[in-house]
Amino acid sequence: MADDCIFCKIIRKEIPANIAYEDDDVLAFHDIHPAAPVHLLIIPKVHVQKVGDFSDENSHIISKLVSASKHLAQGQGLYDEGYRLVINSGDNGGQTVYHVHMHLLGGRVMRWPPG
Ligand code: AMP
Ligand code: ZN
Repeated sequence: MADDCIFCKIIRKEIPANIAYEDDDVLAFHDIHPAAPVHLLIIPKVHVQKVGDFSDENSHIISKLVSASKHLAQGQGLYDEGYRLVINSGDNGGQTVYHVHMHLLGGRVMRWPPG
């Protein structure tokens, strides 16, 4: 946990979020500025700044993010029509919050390539 990290504060319930899923390792909540009809953020409860910072000891958490995304996509009715998972890393990757998060975007056709 990091004291000044906004997503750690959401995990600790110090600031509100519209939580869609939670277990011992993972939290998912609705993005405050949705870029699609469904826009969820799926985060590990451990504070890892960037996806490349996972180590051999904790990289199994990435599979938990993917697993949660599947259940959320099914729950949101997106599984059959499709959806997009995105992890931005670093400034050029468009990362603005330095606590790893997977975006789950759906409910419309996604353009490719992104801007
Ligand atoms: P990224 O640009 O990949 O770092 O994505 C960060 C995302 O976090 C953006 O889509 C923001 O809209 C979202 N965000 C920032 N603060 C909050 C918050 N307090 N609650 C929900 N989503 C947030
Ligand atoms: Zn954090």
